[in-house]
Amino acid sequence: MRILLLSDIHANLEALDAALAAAPSFDTIVNLGDIVGYGASPNEVASRSRELGKVFVRGNHDKAATGLMDLDDFNPMAAAAAIWTRDTLTPENLHWLRELPHGPVSLPDFPDIQLVHGSPNDEDEYVVSLGDALAPLITLTMPLTFFGHTHLQGGFFANGSSADGFRPEYRTVGQAESVPLQLKANARYLINPGSVGQPRDGDWRAAFALYDSEANVVHFHRTPYNLKAAQDRIFAAKLPPRLATRLAAGR
Ligand code: ZN
Repeated sequence: MRILLLSDIHANLEALDAALAAAPSFDTIVNLGDIVGYGASPNEVASRSRELGKVFVRGNHDKAATGLMDLDDFNPMAAAAAIWTRDTLTPENLHWLRELPHGPVSLPDFPDIQLVHGSPNDEDEYVVSLGDALAPLITLTMPLTFFGHTHLQGGFFANGSSADGFRPEYRTVGQAESVPLQLKANARYLINPGSVGQPRDGDWRAAFALYDSEANVVHFHRTPYNLKAAQDRIFAAKLPPRLATRLAAGR
């Protein structure tokens, strides 16, 4: 089975379209949350996501935009985007986003895999450093956890008493590329496919991953997308302009 892993699309339709076009063949799509928030195409991205996938985990921006979470923990820019998103979503999409499941979510037919937005212990926790990853890695019984939330492509693993982090290394800054990671049978992994629509690891390209369960390989991908079109929509929607300009830097 080949599982396409999408996370943190953040209402960036151009990035989602480019990721789908660049993706190799797959059998199913898993979506790790933050479908909306920041970007200017929440309805298009919600509708497309609903058509494409069956397995979803909710993200904090999905909760904020649908009123499931108050905005106290959001910076002013994120809060402004959440309010704009709430006002822009159709009642149908708003309802669908509000009903998305809390992680961890299991994947039918794959008892060794769990899906979360933040961390296995707390859906809103950021797993950024190896230190953040240690507690879940030590306590996990599940060999493979896919997560999002940090917008940093890569992950962490534990094998016996050793643990480390990894980031895919790419050769270019503007082309479509992929980097494979062969998983080991006796290790535990936390893997982030990266953010499709709001990367924060210094690489502006849309990030996603594909997990090939037969080969036990994760293929990390980056692909360029129509950045200007995504930015123009944000300006036209009168969202905070920084949400558009920061896309160019991937920060
Ligand atoms: Zn996010």
